Parts: sequence; C-alpha cells; structure tokens
Amino acid sequence: MDISDESFQEIVEGETSLLVSKKSITDKVPPKKPVFFNPKAKLNRDLSIVAYSAFLENFQGPKILLEGLSGMGVRGLRVANELKIEKVVVNDLNPTALKMAEYSANLNHLDNIKFSENDVCRFLSNYSKKGKRGSIVDLDPFGSPAAFFDCGIRATMHGGMLSTTATDLQVLNGLFQEACKRKYGGITVRAEYGNEIAIRLILGCLRIVAARLGVEIIPQFVESDMHYYRTYVKVLNKPDQKENLGYILHCKNCGNRRIALEKEKECEMCKLKINAAGPLWIGNIFEKKFIQSMIDETTKFKIEKVCDKILHKCLAESEMSGTYFTLDEIASKMKSSPPKLENAVSFLQKNNFVASVTAFSPTGFRTNANINEIIETFHANQ
Ligand SMILES: [Zn+2]
Repeated sequence: MDISDESFQEIVEGETSLLVSKKSITDKVPPKKPVFFNPKAKLNRDLSIVAYSAFLENFQGPKILLEGLSGMGVRGLRVANELKIEKVVVNDLNPTALKMAEYSANLNHLDNIKFSENDVCRFLSNYSKKGKRGSIVDLDPFGSPAAFFDCGIRATMHGGMLSTTATDLQVLNGLFQEACKRKYGGITVRAEYGNEIAIRLILGCLRIVAARLGVEIIPQFVESDMHYYRTYVKVLNKPDQKENLGYILHCKNCGNRRIALEKEKECEMCKLKINAAGPLWIGNIFEKKFIQSMIDETTKFKIEKVCDKILHKCLAESEMSGTYFTLDEIASKMKSSPPKLENAVSFLQKNNFVASVTAFSPTGFRTNANINEIIETFHANQ
C-alpha cells in the first residue's frame, strides 16, 4: 500500500501535522481500516497534552513516553512535537499505522520518536526493568484497558504517570454486570452519576493490580466523555497503606447515596434496601495541585477552549468527596423546576454546606448535604 496516494491527506491537530485517511475525516463514523483515526477525539488528546505537560514540568527524571496501543500515533506524535520530551516510543501491531506514524513524524521533522511493532505487553515488558521504564505510559485500547494494567504499571518508573482509556462503556455503565465484575472486579449501580462510578471501578481495579505489585497509585486527573473514560495516575514504587477501596451505597427509593468502606443492607434514611456499587476506588480522583498546574499549562498550547472550563470545574471539586447529584433528579423528586446550577451551589453554600460544580455533568453538583437537605434548601429558595 502506498500511503502517499489520494486516499490519504494531511491535517493539522494542535501544532502537529498528521497523515490520516480521508475517510476518517469525511465519514460520520471513522472506519477502522486501514487505520482508525477519530478527529472528534481531539479534546481527549488536547487534555493529555496539558496533563503530560503539567507532569513533565515537575518531573526530575528522564522524560520518556511509551505509548502501548498507538494506532497511527497521533497522541505520541503530538507529545513528541508539542512538549519538551526526550523520547517517545509508539507501539502498535498494525504495520500500516506505524508507516503512517513515521510519515507524520517526518512531516514534523521529529528526531525524538521511535516506532515499535509488537504485542502491547511484550512491548511494555521490554521497558519493565528498573532504569528502562517510561516516565509516562499510555494505554488506549478499543474496549477495556484492564488486561494491560499489569504490564502498564511494570513499565512506569517511580514517580511516573500511567494514563489509560476505557471505551467499554456498556460494561462499565451496568448493561453487562457479569462482564464488569470479570473485567474490573466490581459491579455498578445504574444511577445518574454512572460515569463517576465507572471511573472509580477502573481506578479500583488499577489499585488492586498495583497493590499486588507493591506499588501505590495516586489519581491526578480523570475525564469522562460520551465515548470514553480516561484516568491519569501517579505511580510510586511503595506499598499503598491507605484504605482506598470500598463502595458507593445508593438507594433507588429515596436517592440517598454515600461512600463507605463496607456494604450495607439498609438505607439509613428510608430504611429500605440499599444497593452497593464496587468494590471501587473511594479516595480522591483529582489532585488539586496537579489540576492547578494543568490550568497553568493551558495557555501554552493550541487546544480547545473548553479545556480550561473543564479544568476549573475539576479544581472546584478536587477536594470534595464522592459522589454528585444532578439537577434533573432533584427536580423529579421536588416535582418542580430546580434552581440554575450556579444558584443551586450558592444556596447550599449559604446554608453552610460544602458544594461545588462537577466536570462529570453539565447539571451536576457535589455537596455534603444529603438528598433531603438539598430538597429543603432548594424549596426554601423558590
Ligand atoms: Zn433510601
């Protein structure tokens, strides 16, 4: 196959020139062949540029990105071109994808990027010895990343960053509970805030694998989208002593919810049966300092304006505990229209509750008020 023929074209994403197949730009659903490229995932890649930049800015060791399932290497190419990084290695099993990545690397005159054609775990195993590991390791598969957590963690150096994408949303959102239990070791509860439960299930699974290897993970930033969930964790080569695994208890009757270390049978508010999602990650999902440094980085790059807005929401909720409420669910319980989001947050704060918006939902908010207290507060301000 000749990649300079007319079925391909050059585009620019961020500040990086890329060779892509024309169909991936024109078709509504980008084709998987010859190489998958989704232009709509630009936001996802923009946020990784910002996250990696914030990480590299404060990282003292060698600056190396290992991209396990790179496809045509868009993320890796952008990192090599737009960030100050010593080495990027992109790996994929598809030789056409790698040929396109090489072509794009030449377009940008890059000399800090290498290519590898290997099975992802074999590739990462080549980098799992101390002294050879990556400071950033990325796993971006079709479907679940859980099968690669082990080799991903082993290839990440002490103090490094591991980022993963999950696109098996039906499994994580509770359509296939058995598959969720098999892949992630926990189950979900179908609720308005299902995306947060999903991300906590991914982090919980990562935590279990890390703990088995004597490694600690600390979530820095997470991102939820209609088509994927992404997590960024710091990896430390020391055992995790904290109690970071537990459950989200959710009452489908009254809407009460909270994070707990153990399962419970009865809702503390209405005394009916309560459901439990988990085991899952119950610690923080945003690291405040890290989010602040991401915000500081945003001005350096050609990225979607919405990145800044998303990150400010993450900053606001970074020290709040799980999980969030949506205005729609409160409205249906109140049987009347709810306040605007910014008013909802300030009403709660004026009532001496802690409250913030959340990046997880445009109508979502976090608070330490329980559902009855929220409804009372909103009624009082009508
Ligand atoms: Zn209840």
